[in-house]
Amino acid sequence: MATEETKMICLGCPVGCSLTVTHNKDTIIKVEGTQCNIGIEFATSEIRDPRRMIATTVRVKGGIHPLVPVYTASPFPKPLIMKLMEELRKIELEAPVKIDQVVLKNALGTGIDVIASRDLPLAPD
Ligand code: SF4
Repeated sequence: MATEETKMICLGCPVGCSLTVTHNKDTIIKVEGTQCNIGIEFATSEIRDPRRMIATTVRVKGGIHPLVPVYTASPFPKPLIMKLMEELRKIELEAPVKIDQVVLKNALGTGIDVIASRDLPLAPD
């Protein structure tokens, strides 16, 4: 079977090493350019199951601000991120919103919740 090379920047720390991963589909053959083991773990998960933490905002009705910041409770599968953003755009919460309130449970069946990252009180009359 053919091997391929994938280049990526390690996001494991601010150094941002340039990695070259030689792999055969999701079988890792070698990882070059790492300065530590985190880079190897990062490269492996990027090839097998790439994920990112997502932080964005969701609309709120009747609050002191029209949007509340939200985030995924754990890193979210990268191929589903655009679909997640579409789902979050459809949501409009009712104020007040509480910090840690679940905004979207089990997002797209991943088992990952989307959570409010601050309180958003009702707007005064
Ligand atoms: S390989 Fe290690 S040192 Fe390099 S960016 Fe990743 S975590 Fe940082």
